[in-house]
Amino acid sequence: MIMKIFNFVILAATIQCFTACITNTKKANGNITSLNVANKSRHVMTKAEQDALTPEQVLQEFKEGNERFRNGNVTQREHSEMIRKAATDGQFPKAMILSCLDSRVPVEDVFDQGIGDIFVGRVAGNFVNTDLLGSMEFACKVAGAKLILVMGHQHCGAVKEAIDDVHLGNITSMLANVKPAVAMSQNFEGEKSSKNEAFVKLVSQNNVRNTIAKIRAESEILRTMESKGEIKIVGAFYTLRTGELQFID
Ligand SMILES: [Zn+2]
Repeated sequence: MIMKIFNFVILAATIQCFTACITNTKKANGNITSLNVANKSRHVMTKAEQDALTPEQVLQEFKEGNERFRNGNVTQREHSEMIRKAATDGQFPKAMILSCLDSRVPVEDVFDQGIGDIFVGRVAGNFVNTDLLGSMEFACKVAGAKLILVMGHQHCGAVKEAIDDVHLGNITSMLANVKPAVAMSQNFEGEKSSKNEAFVKLVSQNNVRNTIAKIRAESEILRTMESKGEIKIVGAFYTLRTGELQFID
């Protein structure tokens, strides 16, 4: 008898939860799609929240976000509401991330960030030029971002082409930005070719180091902000196979 009552309570609770969870049902292409709207995040960064963040806290948030991404626990977001909110209240992002062009690196997802959370600069080989340095200065000095994160990645085509000294159209001059990293990696012991994953990884990591050195050397604004502790500039290497982020010294 007690078990029967217990089972009934469980069943009732399950039905109640099921009803509460399906709060919105819409038809898309003839298919019924159930959305758990009630539990979705609607959070968009405010100026007060941005002001209160330290560069270290942003970095910690990114590490935790990457862990959620790797474990399949990314935050579910109510985008339509967030878009409206972000459009009316201005933007107060936490950071600027410079990534490669690679389609296998979904930048917002890698850090589990949403609309209004991050600036993303992308160019094949994640290097900086005047335009990207200007974008970073805008992100940090004008828009208040607290962190610059330069992210290289596994199996980078731009890095492999720089190693292979590819000459093709405008790609030739683009690769000139990555080649210093190939020169920095000449003390590698082993086969120095684009077929050797360990060598490609070292060149990718050195490319991130070179990009960061260039940011500090060529942007007085960012160099000063970093020395005052207003921002942090860090590098990372993204592994395609696992979604893991390794921070680079
Ligand atoms: Zn790449």
